[in-house]
Amino acid sequence: MKRIAVIGGGITGVTSAYALSKRGFDVTLFEKSRYCAMETSFANGGQLSASNAEVWTHWSTIFKGLKWILKSDAPLLVNPKPSWHKLSWFAEFIASIPQYERNTIETTRLAIAARQHLFSWAEDEGIDFDLKKRGILHIYRDKSGFDHAQTVSALLAKGGLERYAVTPEEMRAIEPTLAGQYYGGFYTESDATGDIHKYTLGLASACEKRGVKILYGQTVKSVRADKFFAQVTAESEGTVSTSDFDAIVISAGTASRGLAASLGDRVNIYPVKGYSITVNLTDEVSQQSAPTVSLLDDETKLVSSRLGDDRFRVAGTAEFNGLNKDIRADRIRPLIDWVESCFPGVCTRSVVPWAGLRPMMPNMMPKVGKGNLPTVFYNTGHGHLGWTLSAITADILAESIPLD
Ligand SMILES: Cc1cc2nc3c(=O)[nH]c(=O)nc-3n(C[C@H](O)[C@H](O)[C@H](O)COP(=O)(O)OP(=O)(O)OC[C@H]3O[C@@H](n4cnc5c(N)ncnc54)[C@H](O)[C@@H]3O)c2cc1C
Repeated sequence: MKRIAVIGGGITGVTSAYALSKRGFDVTLFEKSRYCAMETSFANGGQLSASNAEVWTHWSTIFKGLKWILKSDAPLLVNPKPSWHKLSWFAEFIASIPQYERNTIETTRLAIAARQHLFSWAEDEGIDFDLKKRGILHIYRDKSGFDHAQTVSALLAKGGLERYAVTPEEMRAIEPTLAGQYYGGFYTESDATGDIHKYTLGLASACEKRGVKILYGQTVKSVRADKFFAQVTAESEGTVSTSDFDAIVISAGTASRGLAASLGDRVNIYPVKGYSITVNLTDEVSQQSAPTVSLLDDETKLVSSRLGDDRFRVAGTAEFNGLNKDIRADRIRPLIDWVESCFPGVCTRSVVPWAGLRPMMPNMMPKVGKGNLPTVFYNTGHGHLGWTLSAITADILAESIPLD
């Protein structure tokens, strides 16, 4: 049986390990933390959102970024201090603008294909992850935002997604707790939400039951490969050990870029920071006043998901500031303000803030499949849609590795 090493125990590494083990490989997963899903796959927006498949490689993103450059609470924030990594990433981002339509359509297709795998794996393995199949409602306060969404809907439809325009009255019928004045919205009934951390932990334990070796607390220090074999050197509590494999899969989130470089591959992932808050709905009024339908507010770039009865997650914003993971009060405040204005009955006394780094490719398309060497594979760089896409990219990855 072919031995495969997977580096990284976030959603992409764990789904990779699961899909590989189902295909008949002998899998070992290296994770530096004590548990899986402790980095970007910890407390994200929760949306399984084909309706959010629009890639960001559009001139409007650049213009908004320039407009907001000195505004510390803006949805998009770029630290103007130059670095070679940031400059090269933005150059490639701009070079990918001509592929905006093609990549949006392809992402939609992938997101729809991912659903069947993700749901069936959860069902087969009995994973409870606060799944809610109540759709996603995109909300717009003005005509220009709504009109742009209409053009995006046409692209999503080319990828196979049905989402339809709704009036403010229809929006209130879909989600009666939503306060405020709106121009209109778009509703995608087939989208869903769930807790990425719970799902990843559940799938990791299913992997172990299938015989996958998960090595926790093992920091991969170096990887080597040639045409015939791959080698992983990892450190745990001061002890360094090296093991041999037939192939290696890199799913290390923002660390994938460095590992890829050491294997001769260019995977230009940039860490794009985002924030979330988890509002604990500790009283009955708050539970009744929080939405059960997931929302995406295109103007503030915030998404929300109801996780079970007593948690409400709000996430978003994009910050280009290297590997910095500080949780800034001025970036968290707009998320709390949003809850208070859209859902005034929700008590915001108990709010847990979090920041994570999206591993984002400049063209917004994940890197999936073979590297330069026949023993090196990738499933990484899923950016703002890792939860949505991971199940299908894991499946594509597993199919791309020859069984013998
Ligand atoms: C604020 C925010 C909101 C988001 N909302 C959504 C959403 O609603 N829907 C959606 O689809 N996506 C969303 N995303 C994106 C999604 O969360 C990410 O794409 C996804 O979690 C990335 O998973 P990953 O496995 O690639 O990376 P990670 O989860 O970061 O996993 C990488 C793992 O590799 C390990 N690792 C790294 N280096 C080493 C090493 N040297 N040795 C051993 N282990 C190593 C790390 O410890 C980590 O566990 C959001 C992201 C953010 C930040």
